Amino acid sequence: MTRLEGRLVLPQGVVAGQLEFSETITGLEADPGSSGPYLLPGFIDTHLHGGGGGDTMDGADGVRTLARFHLAHGTTTLYPTTITNPWDAILHALDGVRQVQADPDPTLPSIPGVHLEGPFISPDRLGAQPPQTVEPTSAQLDDLLSEGVIRLVTLAPELPGVPEAARRFAEAGVRVSVGHTTADAETVAAFAKTVRGAGGTLGFTHLYNAMGGLAGREPGVVGASLADRDAYSELILDLRHVHPASFLAAMHAKPDRLHLITDSIRANGLGDGETELGGQRVIVKDGAATLPDGTIAGSTLTLDRALRNALELGVNLTQASRMLSLIPAQYLGLSDRGDLRQGKRADLVVLDDDFKVQEVYVAGRRVV
Ligand SMILES: [Zn+2]
Repeated sequence: MTRLEGRLVLPQGVVAGQLEFSETITGLEADPGSSGPYLLPGFIDTHLHGGGGGDTMDGADGVRTLARFHLAHGTTTLYPTTITNPWDAILHALDGVRQVQADPDPTLPSIPGVHLEGPFISPDRLGAQPPQTVEPTSAQLDDLLSEGVIRLVTLAPELPGVPEAARRFAEAGVRVSVGHTTADAETVAAFAKTVRGAGGTLGFTHLYNAMGGLAGREPGVVGASLADRDAYSELILDLRHVHPASFLAAMHAKPDRLHLITDSIRANGLGDGETELGGQRVIVKDGAATLPDGTIAGSTLTLDRALRNALELGVNLTQASRMLSLIPAQYLGLSDRGDLRQGKRADLVVLDDDFKVQEVYVAGRRVV
């Protein structure tokens, strides 16, 4: 049993008090006399390719490496994310995550499953995805679903075969996220019906990026996302991918459905230099990762930095914490975590007065 004293960051506000936990939280007590660091629920990243030199596409070792790197920044649950690549490379990545799950390391973040980003996306909205996109076939879907590790998939609704693929993913309990797409708002609305008709939950992948813009008479994918109260949306808050005003507009439109991600790449934590993403050359300069043609290629963001960015933009700590923990937990159906409440997993981040990570706990074990 561990007992921590500090400022508890709860979904309804910040309260001085004490937290008692073993594997799960066993006690929570408000005590105005308490002082100490900020205590937050562990961060949940639904979209990250790599970090610390490792990448999801490397297989099991790459997944462990990226998990260890992000853990030091407060991420206690993550979804290793694949990239558009030859079919065998994608299956290799899924197999790597399956191996990690089969031999779980209690000193690493929890890994409930994979985010499959590509190859079922638009060749006309690649962003930094390699141009190896395909339209889904039922044999490919059989392959993917039989691996049993995908929990979240990014799809371009306008591609032939994608509505049927979305139906199958949704029926298998996989969250379906619209992204890397040229669809119009009407196509997205029809797609949302398909997903929900199959019992699924709809999301939007890195809102604003690789989906075109919003205009009064042409709402596009962004407008479709903001107009849909029930749909979740990921956002990369590195202050490079999205303008602060666009972020704030989305947060005000969707205070309970917008969550923050990193979209982090392998080179995160290694400083400036050359690296790769999906087999493509990537240059990192002053922390900005781009393809040689200047296209933004993922990020070197970590979720503790995303939290500080949100606070600097005037978001209160409670809301910032919700966007990093409770909202992604609700999106992915992780009812056992996401906030500081009795009975929840003791996944915790301890932050100092400058919101820097001091300690991290995974299921009650101090790992940082
Ligand atoms: Zn992407």
